[in-house]
Amino acid sequence: MELECPFCGKRKVKTFHKEGYLQARTSRISAGAKTKHYKTPDTYEVLEDCPHCGAKKKDIQASFEGKYKKKMTHQERLENLKKRGLPLVLGEKKKI
Ligand SMILES: [Zn+2]
Repeated sequence: MELECPFCGKRKVKTFHKEGYLQARTSRISAGAKTKHYKTPDTYEVLEDCPHCGAKKKDIQASFEGKYKKKMTHQERLENLKKRGLPLVLGEKKKI
């Protein structure tokens, strides 16, 4: 199946969709055995880089899974600091 690229939204990328399934787990407690069913979530495997914006398939996949963290450029970091009202010292190499 094909899903819209989460980065540019202009092209579709090929993905392999694995549906979640029910997994039975038995836990033994004093009163006897109890079986619980766990639903594993759907997963997506992205099969190609976005042909439009060049986003890497692992980044697209991470985005579908809600794990993608945008890497900030130095400029964006400075902007962020300004917004938070922190004093800027040029040449400072402290990590936030
Ligand atoms: Zn894209």
